[in-house]
Order: sequence, then structure tokens, then C-alpha cells
Amino acid sequence: MNQSSMARLYQALQSSKLDSTKPAAVSAPLLEQLIDALRVLPGVGQKTAQRMAYHLLEREREGGQRLAETLALAVERIGHCAQCRDFSETEVCPTCANGSRERSQLCVVESPADRLAIENATGFRGVYFVLQGRLSPLDGVGPRELGLEQLEQRLAQGEVQELIIATSATVEGEATAHYLAQLARARQVRPSRLAQGLPLGGELEYVDRGTLSHAFGTRSEFRD
Ligand SMILES: [Zn+2]
Repeated sequence: MNQSSMARLYQALQSSKLDSTKPAAVSAPLLEQLIDALRVLPGVGQKTAQRMAYHLLEREREGGQRLAETLALAVERIGHCAQCRDFSETEVCPTCANGSRERSQLCVVESPADRLAIENATGFRGVYFVLQGRLSPLDGVGPRELGLEQLEQRLAQGEVQELIIATSATVEGEATAHYLAQLARARQVRPSRLAQGLPLGGELEYVDRGTLSHAFGTRSEFRD
């Protein structure tokens, strides 16, 4: 969900106020707005959005208020780390700011969820770069949208020795991996890829911990 749709959801939650003194039925248009706003969530269609809205109004007004407030704060305060592009409340995220992380190893992942999966499953002590997507020309996602200029600058600084490519085993993830490997080689950085064994078409965040840990530990030099 992008920030503007989160903001819309927040506004709808706010303006509904989830006020227990007013029966929900009186403000039908507002109820419709709430349902419409909830549909910005991934996988939520009209029916589910209706169920959520009724649930909040009937049984969970306090929770709804908390959701509205937290959402407002999150939309306002969470941006992207200037170094790794992961979500961060500070200009540089805690991982990038941590002086004990090994800066010669840079692991590229598609999403913040993948970053978290690797962090939890492996003993990786290097740093990350979060693409926030994968190359998909048909959807208008090119190198620019993935911050690859920023990644190139990082590689040009000479600190990175190994670029660990942890994009998904999907067609687009593989295409992205090839592109990243070229970028690395052009800067005399060694590209490596997680070992085979990851389910084809699988997103890293859904891979079980043991499999991910093994694939990460037995990564090898990237070959075209
Ligand atoms: Zn960071």
C-alpha cells in the first residue's frame, strides 16, 4: 500500500470517528467511504472491506481509533533509509547506522519483508539494499524505480566486495539478478546468488527459515 492510499484510509477512519454515540446507519455515506478506504489494503475486496468496517463499528471502536492514530503516525513518520531504502523512521536506519555491521558485504533484496526474513533466518552481519520491487518493464518498473543509480554509486565507493543477490526465484527476480550481477562486475564487485533449493517462483519471505538459512550460507558466485 502506498502512502497516499494509507492517508486516505486514515482520513476515512478519522472522519468516521467510530463514535459510539452515533449509530453507524445514520452516516451511510461515511460508512461507504470507510469501506472504500479499507479496500486499499492488499487482497481486500468489497465484501471483506464491509466485514472489516462492520467489525470495527460494532465491536472494535477502540481498536479502530488506535488503528487510525497509528496509521496517521506511520504515514507521517516512516520514510525510507537514505542508504538502504528500507522503511525507516530516521534518515539512516538502525542497521545502516550500526558501526559493527560488515560494509564489504551488501545483500540486495526485493522487499523489506525479504530483508527481515534473511535477518531472522541467517547470521548475516553485512548490510542491505532494498529494491522495493523488481525489474518489470511492462509495469513501468525500471532501474530508476528500484534506486539502482544509488546502488551503483554505492558500489563505486569501493567499500563493497561482495554483492549478495537475494532476489526471488521468479522470472522477474532472475532478470533483476542478471542486471545486478552486471552492475557489480562493472565495478569489480563479486556478485553471488543464494544457492538453489529455494522454491521456484517463491518469494523469500514465505520460505521457511531452515531452507533460507541454508541457501544463504551456501551461496555461490553468480553465473550467467
Ligand atoms: Zn538502512
